[in-house]
Amino acid sequence: MEGLVRMTFPQIDVAVRVVDWQSAHGRNHLPWQQTRDPYKVWLSEIMLQQTQVSTVLDYYGRFLERFPDVSSLAAASQEDVLALWSGLGYYSRARNLHQCAQQVLRNHGGVFPDRADLLVTLPGIGRSTAGAIAAFCFSERTPILDANVRRVLTRLLGFASDLALVKNERTLWAHAASLLPVTDLVDSMPRYTQGLMDLGASLCVPRKPLCSQCPLQSLCVAYREGDPEKYPVKTRKLVRRSESWWLLILKDRAGRVLLQLRPSKGIWAGLYCVPVFPDATSLMALLSGSSFSNISIENRAPFLHVLTHRDLYLHPVVAECDAEMVPQDLGDWFAPEQWGGLGLPAPIRKFLDSL
Ligand code: SF4
Repeated sequence: MEGLVRMTFPQIDVAVRVVDWQSAHGRNHLPWQQTRDPYKVWLSEIMLQQTQVSTVLDYYGRFLERFPDVSSLAAASQEDVLALWSGLGYYSRARNLHQCAQQVLRNHGGVFPDRADLLVTLPGIGRSTAGAIAAFCFSERTPILDANVRRVLTRLLGFASDLALVKNERTLWAHAASLLPVTDLVDSMPRYTQGLMDLGASLCVPRKPLCSQCPLQSLCVAYREGDPEKYPVKTRKLVRRSESWWLLILKDRAGRVLLQLRPSKGIWAGLYCVPVFPDATSLMALLSGSSFSNISIENRAPFLHVLTHRDLYLHPVVAECDAEMVPQDLGDWFAPEQWGGLGLPAPIRKFLDSL
């Protein structure tokens, strides 16, 4: 494969084509492309990990308004960071973001390291994200391999080895490094890195890639073979589990809702949430306790919430009661105007808004 890459893909050719295409057809006007400030680029990279550009645009601006630099983010409470992240999902990103800012302050004097091999030691920054920050901000000659780029490169190279195996993943990283630009790195590294991302997002898409518009078409093995969709090859499938949760929505006479902080690990870690029970029996056991009397209970229609590895079947039970009846250690009471500013899981917020 190494030999094939050298013979068939003169690195300069690939890099020049990607750089030229990016200048003419890529995305060049996104706010985080107008800066080389690693704080802002890092923030955008983390937000973009599992979220579309259109959604990130909104959050990115608001986040920077509230936390304009790494020190302000590090000084914030995790609760405030999660509240601002609320609705973006994948909350481990927000927790890592906060920890990363604190580590940059503590271990790097408030200045982001300027090399990928140092960036990758920070919480929440994987090898590809580290490469992207280093290429965008410092023009380091270092590769990235996010899902979009992995697709482009495996197709371009006809890389059919199973990426579920670490050694094959490693080989692909080596190929990615061998294709990097060699000249004018200050301009070409950010543009090449962005170009591969843009190609994967706009032309070399998972289904029905638009090969006729692709600058790499004449070099592309997958195109020549006639079946680009067979790349990338990865055999290990995600094992999905399903789980049922019973949600207790306790409302007092003033319309406030009882919320508690989720544990620091697991689903919705560190967010505010209504009390969760593994089954209806344990939920009803609480409500039939001596402190509760004269309460109205209503079972609402269950609904599905899909997480990366899990299908959560949520069963809401709404109970109206006097706040004094409720044991104090169960949580705190919040009025609608208060829970709006808290970090709440998206399905819980939606449900509470519909009450
Ligand atoms: S020619 Fe088609 S398959 Fe090959 S890199 Fe371009 S879009 Fe992807």
